[in-house]
Amino acid sequence: MNHEEKVAAIAAQIRSRPRGSGPASLRKSAVSHFVPNPNDPKHGDRKIDVRALDQILELDIPARRCVVEPGVTFSDLVRATLAHRLVPKLVPELKTITVGGAIAGCSVESMSYRYGGFHDSCRSYELVTGTGEILRCSPGDNSLLFEMIHGSYGTLGILTRVEFDLIPAMPYVHMDYRRLRSFADFHSVMMKLCEEGRYDFIDGIIHGRDSFVLCLGQFTDRAPWTSDYKSLNIFYKSTATRRDDYPTTYDYFFRYDTECHWLTRSLPVPAMESLPMRLLLGKVLLGSTNILNWSRRLRPLLKHQKNVDVVVDVFIPEPRVKEFYGWYEATLDYFPLWIVPYRAPKVYPWIDEDHAKANSSAYFIDCAVYGKKNDVPGVDYHKLLEDKTRELGGIKTLISQNQYDEATFWKIYHRDNYDRAKRISDPDGMFRGLYEKFHPTAPGSR
Ligand SMILES: Cc1cc2nc3c(=O)[nH]c(=O)nc-3n(C[C@H](O)[C@H](O)[C@H](O)COP(=O)(O)OP(=O)(O)OC[C@H]3O[C@@H](n4cnc5c(N)ncnc54)[C@H](O)[C@@H]3O)c2cc1C
Repeated sequence: MNHEEKVAAIAAQIRSRPRGSGPASLRKSAVSHFVPNPNDPKHGDRKIDVRALDQILELDIPARRCVVEPGVTFSDLVRATLAHRLVPKLVPELKTITVGGAIAGCSVESMSYRYGGFHDSCRSYELVTGTGEILRCSPGDNSLLFEMIHGSYGTLGILTRVEFDLIPAMPYVHMDYRRLRSFADFHSVMMKLCEEGRYDFIDGIIHGRDSFVLCLGQFTDRAPWTSDYKSLNIFYKSTATRRDDYPTTYDYFFRYDTECHWLTRSLPVPAMESLPMRLLLGKVLLGSTNILNWSRRLRPLLKHQKNVDVVVDVFIPEPRVKEFYGWYEATLDYFPLWIVPYRAPKVYPWIDEDHAKANSSAYFIDCAVYGKKNDVPGVDYHKLLEDKTRELGGIKTLISQNQYDEATFWKIYHRDNYDRAKRISDPDGMFRGLYEKFHPTAPGSR
């Protein structure tokens, strides 16, 4: 089937759905990078099958431009573009995150300090709407929809084609690890380096109250040696001790994949960081796809567990991040904490204007909390993080537990713009609304 036939088949699936058959969600090939939730009503939805959308359609080397179907994984994409010494402007760290998921779910990574989120590198989208219409969206065509697809989590329609920019790359990355003594030093050096812009990659990892490491990377054509964190060695631990490193560019991008950051520690199988266990079970348990698949399979066992582990990214306005970190250390005290500076090139129209004003800088600092146990009676760390992030004018990604009441939610997200976009692309509510999708007990979410 060619691309046009695939898209026509998806539009036909939508148009042929019986009226009143309830909200729809997608059936993709790649594993979802959402925290599995057995109580999510989407499991009972009639699915729209988009598994065929997994091809790279065009790779225009001189124009540094690529066109893909949104089910393409970043691992496949990077392999194809690196062969021409090019890469996307944003490559999420887990191999099977897809282009569509990165746009709709707000992925960020160590090039975000320069280029923002993946959406910011996109030139146009093709979208199948909730009425089965096929629309082209770009800054000049259906511009509101083009902007609002970003961070819409599949609630405005189905992306079927994505056109985006590429940048030059080299085969290796030279990593330079800088250790700082305090959060204040870590923060000020990181921001100075972001402003200077001489590194290709900037992020950081806080290993504990006294161990702050900036991970600074630069493309290079030659490497005196190369490292390997795909099976026995553990990337995040290496950053606590090494001064520098030389992964291949492909391995750099997916450096966190083997442990799914450090979620191997949260698996019900103990000691997955030990050599014997890695030799014995590494093939079936290591790697983000394995880890997420196992969590999905095991989640029904935890159906009645109220407070699941905290796995979430929060984007904190840069001027407020010191305050956030002080609170975090006193309240969650969980490490490692992954830190990613993220320069949003514009105020996104999906953020409420008053909420957006709380960030007086162009930068957010993504603080990624992956695996904090939520087992203190009477305390819900998800809720505490949600409240603190909002208080500081930040944005919490919606990839796991969400507890906003509706009025509060729409003080963060831009209701008028969202409703206008929804009226254009999904007037009959084929897909859940943004609030209903992430608050399963809200009216209209079933
Ligand atoms: C454990 C964990 C670790 C993570 N680590 C990182 C990381 O290192 N770096 C990073 O950048 N991000 C990370 N994320 C966040 C991740 O980027 C987002 O969750 C992203 O949305 C996942 O995309 P996916 O391809 O897995 O899509 P899915 O999880 O399948 O979908 C994500 C959302 O996008 C929508 N969507 C998917 N495809 C389409 C489409 N074709 N059209 C319209 N909507 C669509 C879905 O409806 C859904 O709401 C992590 C998340 C988790 C849970």
